[in-house]
Amino acid sequence: MEERKVICGLDPEMLSLNLSSAGAEERYSRRLLYWVYRRGIRSFSEPDDIPVSVKSALEERFLTGVNPPISSVRSADGSVKYLFETAAGLPHETVWLPEGKRMTVCVSVQSGCRMGCSFCATGRSGWSGNLMAGEIVNQVVGLPNPFTHIVLMGMGEPGDNIDEVIRACRIFTAEWGLAAGRSKVTVSTVGVTPSVIRLLNETEVNITLSLHSPFPDEREEVIPAERQWPFTETLKLMKEYDNVRRRRFTVAYVMIKGNNDTGRHLEELRRLLHGTGIRVNLLPYHSLPGDPEESADEETMMQFRHLLVTSGVGASVRRSRGADIAAACGMLAAGGTPRQRRG
Ligand code: SF4
Repeated sequence: MEERKVICGLDPEMLSLNLSSAGAEERYSRRLLYWVYRRGIRSFSEPDDIPVSVKSALEERFLTGVNPPISSVRSADGSVKYLFETAAGLPHETVWLPEGKRMTVCVSVQSGCRMGCSFCATGRSGWSGNLMAGEIVNQVVGLPNPFTHIVLMGMGEPGDNIDEVIRACRIFTAEWGLAAGRSKVTVSTVGVTPSVIRLLNETEVNITLSLHSPFPDEREEVIPAERQWPFTETLKLMKEYDNVRRRRFTVAYVMIKGNNDTGRHLEELRRLLHGTGIRVNLLPYHSLPGDPEESADEETMMQFRHLLVTSGVGASVRRSRGADIAAACGMLAAGGTPRQRRG
């Protein structure tokens, strides 16, 4: 029997082609996408505006591709970490972060990661494979929770799976997709230059550069990708971008005590970012097992932020979330650690 095609991950044109080659009526394409992306249907029996005969034909040849997580664990602060698995068995984690009216879903783009950043559990656990656009999107539509913001900051480097990431971003923002609003979607990258260029040209989402240090030699020690793709190239692209549509560019800066929280680092950050409109997001460091480094304390981070802001560089401190369930920044490692199965 022919393998059933998956709808989640397709755009209207691709779905129309698939429908017509399966002998189904193309005119149901957009309606079906509405049910898959906005309503998260798992079965074709659910839509009430598609004829029964069409629904049974669909059931035979297609899958919605919307799948629930296989387990979840809840943090004391209310955030929830979910474990998903692709049809090919690739585990990947998603974190849901409620904060007042804002509900952010942090999705993975790969199972593991091959960038090898030393401060990141995902990097240490290795790479198992790329996720398809539908598998990235499923981490939002397959969740039982609502969302207001989507960040591609979970497992994996978006720049290392750029075709699927761009496809997923289009589905997140398109009217026929999740219609999340382009300002509500953010992609975080270590700065794979050719992929950053594609994100700038082919999407309208916000971009965050994971910086760690404003000094290339220091950055290279923790983010090996610096060797191939110097961060200065991404900063240059951000600075030169004709930002008429006001997409947001941010630098993520994980603060390690006595390492990158000194006056020297502050001065260089100011020099690089002053007058550019690029904001700095200061993040606490989450120590990994066997790691002697520790996070800069809250007072240092607040002072660092204050000095950046008073010198004209927009900056904020991001509160740590989900550290008790290994869901905070840099802690996701479903590809390399035994899975926690619950629920
Ligand atoms: S920080 Fe991002 S790019 Fe680096 S290893 Fe972790 S997931 Fe990969």
